[in-house]
Parts: sequence; structure tokens; C-alpha cells
Amino acid sequence: MRPVDELCEALREQGLKVTPQRRLIFEALRDSPNHPSAEDVYHLVRDVMPDMSLATVYHTLDHLVTMGELVQLDLGEGKSRYDTYTNGHFHLVCQGCREVLDIAGDPDCADLMPTETSGYQIDRCEVVFYGHCPDCQA
Ligand SMILES: [Zn+2]
Ligand SMILES: [Zn+2]
Repeated sequence: MRPVDELCEALREQGLKVTPQRRLIFEALRDSPNHPSAEDVYHLVRDVMPDMSLATVYHTLDHLVTMGELVQLDLGEGKSRYDTYTNGHFHLVCQGCREVLDIAGDPDCADLMPTETSGYQIDRCEVVFYGHCPDCQA
């Protein structure tokens, strides 16, 4: 993720106001553990601004996804997570403790591309490994 000041500048360039709420959400994203959900971000910002609504958090995260500053992830949990690391990479998910690790991967997935994709322009590719970490196996 880019520094908070750069994100604020990018928001202004989109014609959006940089409110104290939005700035606080950016700071919470910067300080969050990797791959937070909207609720995780909400809990962080509520400590500082108790009147912040979950809807404000969702809207701000949506803007950042649209701007390409965040990647929205669906890891089959019934809620999205947000990735501040936007370069193509794979994920490893523990189904016990829900830890999500980044794995370096070919961002274009060129080696994985089945022949059926020929003729398609591929915009995105997601690779997720699900399992149980050593602690959760014990
Ligand atoms: Zn685990
Ligand atoms: Zn990631």
C-alpha cells in the first residue's frame, strides 16, 4: 500500500474529499495485520472515532479497490478481506485459525494457464491453498 499522504492525494485526484474518517481508515489499513476484513478495520477505527459507521468503512474500502490500491479477496468465509499488497501473489489459508499467508507466485499465472484460456484476455488469476497450519494440526 502507498503511504497515507499519497492515498489522500490519489483520492483528491478522483474528485473525492479527504475526510478525517477516510484518513483514519487509511491509517488503520496501514497498521492492520495482513488481509483484514472490513470489520477488522472498523474495530480499529472505532477506538479513535466511536461514531464511525461500518458503511463508511465499506465505502472507503470500495473506493480503494476501484482505484487499484487494494485487492478484495474472497476466501470462502462469507466476508471479504482486503489485501494491501496488490502485486500478483498466491495465498495460503489455515482453515483452523484462519491465518492468511502470502506466497510469492507468478503474477500472470502464465505457467498455470490451461489451453482453454487461449483466446481470452485474462484480467485476474487467484490461487488459494487451503489447509491446516502445524499449530492447528497438533
Ligand atoms: Zn492454523
Ligand atoms: Zn495477500
